[in-house]
Amino acid sequence: MATLAELGEERTAAIGEKLFEIGDATYPFIAIIEGEAAVTDAAGREIVRHGASGFLGEMNLLSGQTVFLTAIVTEPMRYIAVERETLRRLLFEDASLAELLLPAFIQRRELLQQRQGIGVEIVGSHESAETRRLLDFVRRQRLPYTWDDPTEDLEAAALIERTAEDELPLVRLPGGVELRRPSNGELSRALGIGLQLAPREEVDLLVVGGGPGGLGAAVYGASEGLDTLVVESTVLGGQAGTSRRIENYLGFPAGITGSELTGRAITQARKFGARTATPYRAKALAPGEERHVVSLDEGNEIAARAVLLSTGAEYRRLPVEGLDRYEGVSVFYAAGPPEARLCGAQRVGVVGGGNSAAQAAVWLARGGALVTLLHRRADLTETMSHYLIEELDRYGVAVRDRSEIAALHGEDGRLDAVTLTDGAEVPLSFLFLFLGASPCTEWLGDTVARDAKGFILTGPDAGAEGLLETSVPGVYAAGDVRAGSIKRCATAVGEGATVVRFVHERLAPAAV
Ligand SMILES: Cc1cc2nc3c(=O)[nH]c(=O)nc-3n(C[C@H](O)[C@H](O)[C@H](O)COP(=O)(O)OP(=O)(O)OC[C@H]3O[C@@H](n4cnc5c(N)ncnc54)[C@H](O)[C@@H]3O)c2cc1C
Repeated sequence: MATLAELGEERTAAIGEKLFEIGDATYPFIAIIEGEAAVTDAAGREIVRHGASGFLGEMNLLSGQTVFLTAIVTEPMRYIAVERETLRRLLFEDASLAELLLPAFIQRRELLQQRQGIGVEIVGSHESAETRRLLDFVRRQRLPYTWDDPTEDLEAAALIERTAEDELPLVRLPGGVELRRPSNGELSRALGIGLQLAPREEVDLLVVGGGPGGLGAAVYGASEGLDTLVVESTVLGGQAGTSRRIENYLGFPAGITGSELTGRAITQARKFGARTATPYRAKALAPGEERHVVSLDEGNEIAARAVLLSTGAEYRRLPVEGLDRYEGVSVFYAAGPPEARLCGAQRVGVVGGGNSAAQAAVWLARGGALVTLLHRRADLTETMSHYLIEELDRYGVAVRDRSEIAALHGEDGRLDAVTLTDGAEVPLSFLFLFLGASPCTEWLGDTVARDAKGFILTGPDAGAEGLLETSVPGVYAAGDVRAGSIKRCATAVGEGATVVRFVHERLAPAAV
């Protein structure tokens, strides 16, 4: 409190006063000296009360998103208000305060995601690919949201009747603003998330992909004086950001959630001055002598003296007919708090024999789902860590060996059962797929050399001089997207950091 008092402003507030309100673009961090405030949702339902020594705030203090909740004084208050930018600086400098606040912000966001009626409201049918796109986007952004499907909700059905087909889905933002079929970028910027890029930008190092590899490069690049920009097509953090618990990252003996690990990395990269821009998808690379130009889906062009490709890999889909009708409704590729909420007391299938399938199965079983893990080999020990096999047993996950799905059954995207290749029918309401991943490199065409599976070749394999350099001088690859990579967080971070050294050598050969 003493530290906060030095940097913030002491204020008072009377009963009934609003400290911040849904839709506000910004609010300060509030540390309560005395008194009490209630936090409520849009319908006025109380979520929590905080009193003396408590504090108000969650992830949007750092991400810059619009406010999702209202805070009303319930007992006369004396409090310290710390403006957002000051708080950010303080979190960089004061490790013990960061230890206290950051996990609380992250946990509060996870709890908000589990509640109905908070955040963005999406009105659209599960049959619409545009609705599914937006649902996928808000889930990946870990935004709290409510989805009104007109097939289930009369009010939503009436609203949809009055709206032109090409304006659907409707998205209502906290505070009442309504968007009609927004692009992911439009929705992001309306919520105040993310940097808006100029039509043409010039940087020293452009990092394409904001997973651990890209973030590793951003931290080291920016801290060593390179003008660094990260563009990310979905949400910063990459695959690692979706991991429930990373147990093998150096320095975290008790494990750390993927979102916390990558959240800290993002804060660290920004602290050193790296810029991060989302959601911007790279769609072409044009190599040049002095600068390479990367074009983005919204029409922007980034001219960079060096480019790091760290676009990772994307989940493989199940080769069955009609899968897209179920995706986002009852078939998922990650198991987070919103999915766990959906699946309580339901029959759930998790497909895959690797550690990520095991982690998801355990997480869903702990949330009260009846989980069956389906995998195609005879024995899990070939592909899964021993401790996770024990966890499956401990949490009552049924394991079905030699099982592959041949068909999905259900209506309106809602799964009822699956048929396996041996003809057996298994009743399941939800399916989570963890079938490995393919590299996100199609957008590169043949500008850089890739292997037969599409992973980017580097070093001698690409005919390049530098270790992590691709077949195009000044264009590097790091992390899961690189042919022969280890596919772990630590190795992706290490490769990203290593590339920075090569970039320095290239940009200032005489100085190194
Ligand atoms: C559920 C799960 C659990 C895991 N658990 C662990 C663990 O416990 N320990 C461990 O060490 N590893 C774990 N891993 C593996 C680890 O997460 C990956 O090895 C690591 O994330 C790879 O980092 P990366 O930066 O190379 O790629 P990614 O993390 O895949 O990041 C790539 C990023 O690039 C973006 N992108 C793709 N295409 C474009 C484009 N055209 N334009 C702009 N951006 C683009 C993507 O959206 C993505 O955010 C786990 C993975 C998963 C999925």
